[in-house]
Amino acid sequence: MSCEICGLKQAEYTCRICGRRVCSEDYDYEERVCLVCKHTLCQICRRQLSIATCKYCRRAACEDCLIQVSLHEYVCVECYRRIHGGRE
Ligand SMILES: [Zn+2]
Ligand SMILES: [Zn+2]
Ligand SMILES: [Zn+2]
Ligand SMILES: [Zn+2]
Repeated sequence: MSCEICGLKQAEYTCRICGRRVCSEDYDYEERVCLVCKHTLCQICRRQLSIATCKYCRRAACEDCLIQVSLHEYVCVECYRRIHGGRE
């Protein structure tokens, strides 16, 4: 079976997020995801795909790591804690 990203090389790994079968060049060993998912991965937890970016640090994060502060604005949990001084 050939890689589902480049279509050229032999697929050796399976992405844990999208399930694509990809070659070693299109796979990230540390995150265990394909390069397509790596680009959209949450930059905080690195477990899920990001849905939006934090309005302060501009990092892309998933729904678990973002707090919606207005209709189109999100703040990541790290910036939220920093701004709110660690209070829960
Ligand atoms: Zn490939
Ligand atoms: Zn993937
Ligand atoms: Zn996350
Ligand atoms: Zn942030």
